[in-house]
Amino acid sequence: MTHMDKTLHIVGGGMAGSEAAWQAANMGVSVIIHEMRPKVETFAHRTGNLGEMVCSNSFRSDDHEQNAVGLLHWEMLQAGGLIMKTAYTHRLPAGGALAVDRDPFAEAVTEALLAHPNISVSYDEITSLPETGHWIIATGPLTSSDLGAAIARETGADALAFFDAIAPIVYFDSIDMSKAWMQSRYDKGETEEERTAYLNCPMDKAQYESFIDALLDADKTEFHEGETAGYFDGCLPIEVMAERGRETLRFGPMKPVGLTNPHSDIKPYAVVQLRRDNALGTLYNIVGFQTKMKYGAQTEVFRRIPGLEDAQFARLGGIHRNTFINSPTLLDASMRLKSRPNIRFAGQITGVEGYVESAAMGLLAGRMAACEILGVEQPEIPQDTAMGALIHHITGGADAKTFQPMNVNFGLFRPVDGLKAGRRGRKDRYKAYTDRAKAEWQTWLDKIG
Ligand SMILES: Cc1cc2nc3c(=O)[nH]c(=O)nc-3n(C[C@H](O)[C@H](O)[C@H](O)COP(=O)(O)OP(=O)(O)OC[C@H]3O[C@@H](n4cnc5c(N)ncnc54)[C@H](O)[C@@H]3O)c2cc1C
Repeated sequence: MTHMDKTLHIVGGGMAGSEAAWQAANMGVSVIIHEMRPKVETFAHRTGNLGEMVCSNSFRSDDHEQNAVGLLHWEMLQAGGLIMKTAYTHRLPAGGALAVDRDPFAEAVTEALLAHPNISVSYDEITSLPETGHWIIATGPLTSSDLGAAIARETGADALAFFDAIAPIVYFDSIDMSKAWMQSRYDKGETEEERTAYLNCPMDKAQYESFIDALLDADKTEFHEGETAGYFDGCLPIEVMAERGRETLRFGPMKPVGLTNPHSDIKPYAVVQLRRDNALGTLYNIVGFQTKMKYGAQTEVFRRIPGLEDAQFARLGGIHRNTFINSPTLLDASMRLKSRPNIRFAGQITGVEGYVESAAMGLLAGRMAACEILGVEQPEIPQDTAMGALIHHITGGADAKTFQPMNVNFGLFRPVDGLKAGRRGRKDRYKAYTDRAKAEWQTWLDKIG
């Protein structure tokens, strides 16, 4: 393969790889998808289809006025997205959610890609990082181990994770600050920003005891087969800590030391800490609260924490097998590996979470790679769109030190001028975000033709 080779190679024909291939091929670029299934299997996929949904059959909310993932659907559809177009064709009734008939959906994605004159599929496993040519790596949360090892060698082992242990993330404007307060433990931190990086929610003894009971009683999700290897290092689910002893949390993530509650003279018995999760200060994660509790149980249990009674969650906690790189340090703004710019990353491996977000990053990577190959300049992706907010988060907005996979959510959006943050007026604010995003996305699409 020479440097002049204008073929785009895409490794992985999942949500991201399929969408990337479709976009680049429609722009006139010749694409080869390298997909290891069905020759090499993963523990979660069941077929050799491209675009297979590994678990739920839902693309989540389809509300493009009040919901960030619904907005992402809309943006992808406007950009001629294959995953979204096919999802609507195979839609099943599911209230406000976009659920699909999974097998016909993946079969239709596969057929569309195989029928495209610019796309061919090679059923092989890629095990190393190619030195030359144009490549997109979209191998997802279950990247094969040889390729994972090659990525770790290139990026440094610390920059590649094999699990995500996600603590729930709360919208700041849903936290009751008449009960919570900002302070870092022992007032540590040099700058004002560091000192205000933490929020604290106090508990008295009775509240702590009933919180532990609720954790022990909550419904939990089982691990998938093959998922657990190596996970217990340093990321125990909070409920497992509680099972080890009723006081474990009070001496662990909920220790009350080095903190002074300005709302009361009574010393807290335990404290739940939340840490700022993005530069905008709109999102806070609950420190050390990774969990395998079911989603319904999480909201019920976490809303028992004083100050979080009305909490809205940008994402709930989880622990999953998930291969992802530290994108904020490794990728440039157009998703190229800084150390090897002939390689882009896309999909869940870049640290987004979910089918829709992965396909969305595939869409952008496919277009960016095609522009590069064709020698066309691509106008900057507008940050105030769902696409823009997400790519900006993974390639720069997120804190590299605490980087964890992220769903699209309105906390990633810059405020709309003239609209106040706060618990009131959320509907108007979300509508303003989606109106602004749609206008900007349409302008961007018009520019690139
Ligand atoms: C167990 C499990 C359950 C999940 N449940 C959900 C859910 O319910 N809802 C949701 O939105 N998201 C869920 N996810 C996340 C979901 O998998 C991703 O959001 C989405 O599929 C990611 O898209 P992707 O294209 O990045 O990866 P994938 O869709 O996984 O595609 C990656 C492709 O790369 C291939 N591949 C891997 N390594 C190589 C290699 N070396 N050479 C060639 N091909 C390779 C794989 O076979 C696969 O086809 C789940 C993930 C897991 C692991």
